[in-house]
Amino acid sequence: MKAIVSHDIDHLTLSEHYLKDLIVPKYFLRSKIELFTGKISLHEFFNRVGDLYKDQWQHIETLNEFNLKHQVSSTYFIAVNQGIGLVYSQKNSEFWIHKMIEMGCNIGLHGIEFENLEKIQMEYEVFKKLSNMHYFGCRMHYIRTNENTLNNMAKVGYSFDSSEMSFKAPYKIGNMWEFPFQIMDGYIIQKPKQWQSKNFKQSCEETIKIIDKSFNLNLPYLGIDFHDRYFSDSHKTWKDWYMWLIEYLSSQKIEFVDYKQAIKELEK
Ligand SMILES: [Zn+2]
Repeated sequence: MKAIVSHDIDHLTLSEHYLKDLIVPKYFLRSKIELFTGKISLHEFFNRVGDLYKDQWQHIETLNEFNLKHQVSSTYFIAVNQGIGLVYSQKNSEFWIHKMIEMGCNIGLHGIEFENLEKIQMEYEVFKKLSNMHYFGCRMHYIRTNENTLNNMAKVGYSFDSSEMSFKAPYKIGNMWEFPFQIMDGYIIQKPKQWQSKNFKQSCEETIKIIDKSFNLNLPYLGIDFHDRYFSDSHKTWKDWYMWLIEYLSSQKIEFVDYKQAIKELEK
């Protein structure tokens, strides 16, 4: 079993939300619950307050540095359209698309439209134009799909998608590879609540169960989704968990590949 790591970019700044939604006040309410239930430290809480002044919720560069150091060739999914709780502008998205390409990152689209073929096509074309890429994949924001989404994505020309969360091996829909994934940060650390419900140790134990299950099912690839937003001292459990996960997989001699390398292996 090899591992495929990906990151969804849901936020760039805090201020992009101010006139658009209530994410920031809700987040601080949640942070207070996490502080009073002992899930986060006072230090972590104040780091979050500090983020208000830094106006930064993306951690693409520090995450990329960590990944490079650990030979993790990951993929960043970035949106070119606005959706639930995702409101950064296309201009800022374009800036990061170019910057990540310069940094040598693999990038794909974080899709918003999942119900309508024309709109799916439109997002595909916008990303293609902004990135100047022809071969790329997608993950839907909140992994939203209906019975037609994946077929429609294959039709518009995506090379791969990873919006399905299940214990299945990659499979093909038309010319598109679907890469089901098994590990998502929020599902481990928050679920079943809306705020942090597990501590670091509990999160690791839960993760090992998923890794073992994937291994026992003989899955060729273990899919991991970690949001760059949490690679920060404001989210210590999340960041520590991700760093632990990469080191744990390395210690188990599990190799990291990106989607394109996996497709090459699958089509051999
Ligand atoms: Zn998302």
